[in-house]
Order: sequence, then structure tokens, then C-alpha cells
Amino acid sequence: MSLDGAVADLRRRLLAAGVLAELGEPGVFGLGGAFTRVFDAVDALYVAAFAHLRADVWRFPPVEPRSLFERTDYVASFPQLTGSIGVFAGGAAEHAELLRVRAEDGRWEDLLVPGGLMMGPAACHPLYAVIGGTLPVGGRNYDVLGSCFRHEPSPDPMRLQSFRMHEFVHAGTAASATAHRDEALPRLAAMLGSLGLEVADVPANDPFFGRTGKILASNQRHQALKFELVTPVYGDDAPPVAIASANYHEDHFGTAFGIFDAEGGVARTACVGLGMERTVLALFARHGMTTSEWPEPVRSVLWPHG
Ligand code: AMP
Ligand code: ZN
Repeated sequence: MSLDGAVADLRRRLLAAGVLAELGEPGVFGLGGAFTRVFDAVDALYVAAFAHLRADVWRFPPVEPRSLFERTDYVASFPQLTGSIGVFAGGAAEHAELLRVRAEDGRWEDLLVPGGLMMGPAACHPLYAVIGGTLPVGGRNYDVLGSCFRHEPSPDPMRLQSFRMHEFVHAGTAASATAHRDEALPRLAAMLGSLGLEVADVPANDPFFGRTGKILASNQRHQALKFELVTPVYGDDAPPVAIASANYHEDHFGTAFGIFDAEGGVARTACVGLGMERTVLALFARHGMTTSEWPEPVRSVLWPHG
């Protein structure tokens, strides 16, 4: 089967089984009960696997203030993925105009204006605004689970426009941050292996935009800043799918958000992030659409109490 065929087939099976429900735009789905039950079990396992980090828990809304978005510099590297919230800020005349455009099936959203909020593209970004200041000796760990928006519409159910990422972030020194990144992936790979997923740990780069982006991507690879856990979803001939990544940000966020290590140096940060929807869907792709028929060893890891 071609890759396109395999993508269409998985999507059809997920929809037919009610794991996902179509909402009318690519990469935006309703998530059914079976999906949610697997999601919760995977999330609990993940949290247990990283319990030793004693991470501070933070949760953030799916939108972030434009000022925060600016400090991450995201739009410089990923304009193609960026989304902003448009709001209606007019009066009666503008509303009348909007209704006129709408009645003609026009794009009334064009009459909205930027509302000062951006869609959050990565779960960890708002964290850096919260932890600004001086870190304790040894640095600190954080647990962040949040919704991410990335404008990459695709027929592939593994590539969503809105998805959740659960991250364990470390802020500290270069040594403690790279150690966090390097220890996290094997631990996560073992957890995913216990769920019957074949995962490989590979060097990776982000999809930086444009010509300068090519250079940024190649630097990121050369400096070995990013690694991914990938798993085959569409057969051995198709490219495997990234379900998690571990990133060393050097002093990018430390500088932008004024975070310092215990010695007063600019903090270094690293995060490991599990793509929750991708992981759950990879399990359905691997074991089938009916969780009661999944292999017993996998079921007993996910649901030890039945
Ligand atoms: P990244 O920050 O790009 O390394 O993303 C971290 C993880 O989020 C990836 O390894 C994926 O599991 C997940 N992810 C990224 N983009 C998408 C997407 N468009 N749809 C679903 N999951 C995604
Ligand atoms: Zn992160």
C-alpha cells in the first residue's frame, strides 16, 4: 500500500471505530471514549516514569499573551505554524457589515482584529515566564501538560493542528540540562516499549522556515540539540513518526525570560515532550481499534487494576 493509502486507511479505521470523530477541518478531531481511556492510562504511566524528578506541576491555557509569544521568538523561526486569535472589536456598524458579509457566505473572520493572544505552539513556553529569577542549586524540574496549536493541516491523523504535549522540563546549568535531556529518552523509550511500540532514538531538527531555516536546522543537528523517539506507523517502508522529542535549548529561554542558575549564570533549559495524541494513535495503529482485543501484556501495563 502507498503511504497515502496507508494514511487514508488508518484515518478511516479510527473514524469508523469512533476513536476519532471528524469536525470538518483537517487535523482537528473529536476524541472518543476509547481514545480518552488510553490517553489517561498513558499519561499516568508517563507521570509515574518521571516521578523521581519531583517536578513542579504547571498547567497553562491553550492561548498565550502576544508579549510572551514575542519573547520566545517563535514567529521568527516558524511563521508557517503560527496562529493568532482574532476578535470582534467593532460597534453596531461593524457588526452590520459582518452580518452582510456572512449572509453572502463571505469570510466574515476577515473583519476580526488581533486580540492580543496567540495560540500556544509548545506546552513549555509559558513556563519560562513563570520561573523567571534565580534557580536553586541543582536546578529545578517542571511538569507541563498543555494544548499546542500548529498550522499544519494534513489528512494524516498523526499530524494534528491541535494536540497535547506533556513535557518534563529542566532549568539549571548546561551540565544538568543536557543530563536531563539525555536521561529522559531511554526512560521514555522503555515505557513506550512496555506498550508494544518499537521506538528508535534519532537525532532530529525542527522545521525552521525558509532559507535561513535550512541553516538553523542543520546547526541544530550538528550540535546534537534535538533527539526524537520515532515509531513505525505506516509500515517499514514509510518514514517512522516522531512521538516524543528531547530538546536542549542552550540559553535561549534563560536569556529571553531572565532565568539564572544558582551561581548567577544565565540558566540553560531542556525539555522532554511526549506527543499525547500521537502516542495514543500509534497504539491504536499498532494493536487495532478495539482495546479489549489488545495484547494482554499491554493491557495489564495500561490498566493494572483491570
Ligand atoms: P516538537 O516540539 O516538534 O518536537 O514536538 C513534540 C512532540 O509533539 C512530537 O514528538 C509529536 O509527538 C508531537 N507533535 C508535534 N507536532 C504534532 C502534530 N502536528 N500533531 C500531533 N502531534 C504533534
Ligand atoms: Zn518544551
